[in-house]
Amino acid sequence: MRIDDFYLSENERAALLSYSQKDTFPQTLLIEGGNMDERTDFARFIANMIVCQSESGKPCGKCGACIKCEARSHPDIKEYGEEKERYTFKVELSREIRSDAFVIPNDSDKKVYIIKEAQNMNDSSENALLKILEEPPYFDYFILTCSSRSAMLDTVLSRAVVLSLGFSEENYDGEVLGLCEGIINALCAGNELIMLEKLAPLADDKDAFLPVVGCLKRSFLEALKFKNGAAYQKTYENSVKTLSNKYSVNRLYSLITAAGELEANFRQNANYNLLVTYMSARLTDAVK
Ligand SMILES: [Zn+2]
Repeated sequence: MRIDDFYLSENERAALLSYSQKDTFPQTLLIEGGNMDERTDFARFIANMIVCQSESGKPCGKCGACIKCEARSHPDIKEYGEEKERYTFKVELSREIRSDAFVIPNDSDKKVYIIKEAQNMNDSSENALLKILEEPPYFDYFILTCSSRSAMLDTVLSRAVVLSLGFSEENYDGEVLGLCEGIINALCAGNELIMLEKLAPLADDKDAFLPVVGCLKRSFLEALKFKNGAAYQKTYENSVKTLSNKYSVNRLYSLITAAGELEANFRQNANYNLLVTYMSARLTDAVK
């Protein structure tokens, strides 16, 4: 896998490449959003970046560490938690991680703990883990995955750099998908008036903004995958066909960037009515 296979904003992508080049990975990373498989894949990808022995272009895919990562047999990468929606992440598991964390690495000079679906931790598991996140040995890195950062304790969040794979896909419904298809059709038809009409429901429903922009971003990404000959998610089939007929790979990248900026604007509490109006201009601009 490559970094472009993940659903990241430009800023997050740049930050990750910089950590990798300068070997300055934050010791705690939290991956949120997307779906469960994507979160796990991304956590494994970053773990591979952290342990890769190459000087540049990590993960190189060729060094001894990368080969072990590929086979999922790297002794310094450990996975905890389960890849399923609901389970209980027991406090004993947090304690086990804590005591293991002090053992020096085997192969590498670093150790990576992937803690899957951390929203399933209760407060005592999180607090037990927090103790090691607060003062980790210099060789330890923790990558937590969770559906949304809002599921985690503030004390854990304050230790972590959050990487977002977009709005959690578990929250999309038919209405959001339908709205996105309408927006994409208007965009591809170059009809700004219809686009404004399609965006109108957002003006009265602030809660719909992130799901809709997230779903748009996802549609652009899936179209990009299709263009590159990769497998794409069938949920987005209508939009993927429309987008990939109309736009080049570069235009699709511009749209992904535009959607990422709109999410950031929303999170920075931009004036909401202006933001909905700006959204039409920003998307149209991305394909000019
Ligand atoms: Zn490597």
